[in-house]
Amino acid sequence: MTASTTDHNSFVLSAPALLADSHTLIMDAAIAVIDGIIQACHQRSKILEQFPGLPEVHVDSCVLTPGFVNAHTHLELSFLAGKIPGPADFPNWVLQLIAAYPSIGDAEEIFSQSALAGAQESIRFGVTTVGDTSRQHPIVRPALQRESPLGIVSFGELTALGRSRKYLDGRLAAALNQPEAENLMSIGLSPHAPYSVEGLALQKIVAAAREHHVPLSMHLAELREERDFLRDFSGPLGKSWMLMRHMDLLDDQIPPFDNGPIHWAQHYGLFNAGIPVILAHVNYADDTELDILAGSGAVVAYCPRTRNYFGHDAVTPHPWQAMQKRGISVCLATDSLASNPDLSLLREAQFLYRNDPSIPSQILWRMITAEPAAALGLGSRIGRLAPGYAADILALPAAKEMFASSAAVCDYLVREAPLPQRVWIRGRHVFSAGPST
Ligand SMILES: [Zn+2]
Repeated sequence: MTASTTDHNSFVLSAPALLADSHTLIMDAAIAVIDGIIQACHQRSKILEQFPGLPEVHVDSCVLTPGFVNAHTHLELSFLAGKIPGPADFPNWVLQLIAAYPSIGDAEEIFSQSALAGAQESIRFGVTTVGDTSRQHPIVRPALQRESPLGIVSFGELTALGRSRKYLDGRLAAALNQPEAENLMSIGLSPHAPYSVEGLALQKIVAAAREHHVPLSMHLAELREERDFLRDFSGPLGKSWMLMRHMDLLDDQIPPFDNGPIHWAQHYGLFNAGIPVILAHVNYADDTELDILAGSGAVVAYCPRTRNYFGHDAVTPHPWQAMQKRGISVCLATDSLASNPDLSLLREAQFLYRNDPSIPSQILWRMITAEPAAALGLGSRIGRLAPGYAADILALPAAKEMFASSAAVCDYLVREAPLPQRVWIRGRHVFSAGPST
């Protein structure tokens, strides 16, 4: 990352083209930014006339776009990049992940450096805000706040199952611990998964999120085996799993549930709770379950390359298009470097587009900008370039021939996944790929 050349965050940014959202392309365009907030997006001549006092920064051979929003990742696991080769069997992957964890003495250093490396990689790929699910939040939040310009919703990850339920109150209090200074971080809560959080604990976490008006994020219907676990603690995630045997958490007070993770989440109040809810993965859902999701207000974070890594694509395609047909909002996300080759959200879109070029690229574009912004409860502040929105802006290299229409620009960007030339977050120039102008 190079030093900022625009250390004030009030300026006019101009370029040959600007893609404000999936359907709005402005040629010979400029953005007026004051104190990190977009005041206007228009043709350059009009902006210069309207904001004569602002210095102009011009980028050539680029299209300006909103920064990408990655609604589901785990920055603290970046130290595991490439360490667990796929295709991976999930229960075994968890064991390998735990085996690779640092010792207590090294944890602070490794998790803070890991989160910072993940934040830096995100920015390099044009991601300007993340929903970061963090088990190590007492370490990771201060490190990111101190040293990273990335916008972050930090979901404190919680487990509470069987004999560990007694720790939930303390874990909740710690996860709700707000960062002190005014900055780019806000918090949320993440009940981990149906095989690590029991129903009554989920209910309690939802109540806490409602009381504190913070968003929720949960891994749900990621694995077919969740159903067996909920029913009678059988299957590869159940009492025979080496991790469950080792932790010895299961007791007879966990209420069994017959009807799979989506009905379970509904039963324990995760849906229609009046707060943003992100469901990570939802790899498996039948028609009845899709109907529940359609009325739930929750957003699905689909992680295509991580799903592929775990071999789910070989079992059945992800139902994301059926979800969208029912009106369920779906965004793309990366998950962590422990299961994904990189933290590029644009490459998630590219992965889908290359497998099926009939998918409209403008839909994929929304799934990495406006939809994840709304999923995080930030839909009126980030995810598009418009007055009142944060100046989270990318300059993506593109030749003039690409600028025929918004659809043509989206086609090109999703097909080629170019790396940003420059990145601004809240009007601050945070990354430059080459010599700055
Ligand atoms: Zn995850």
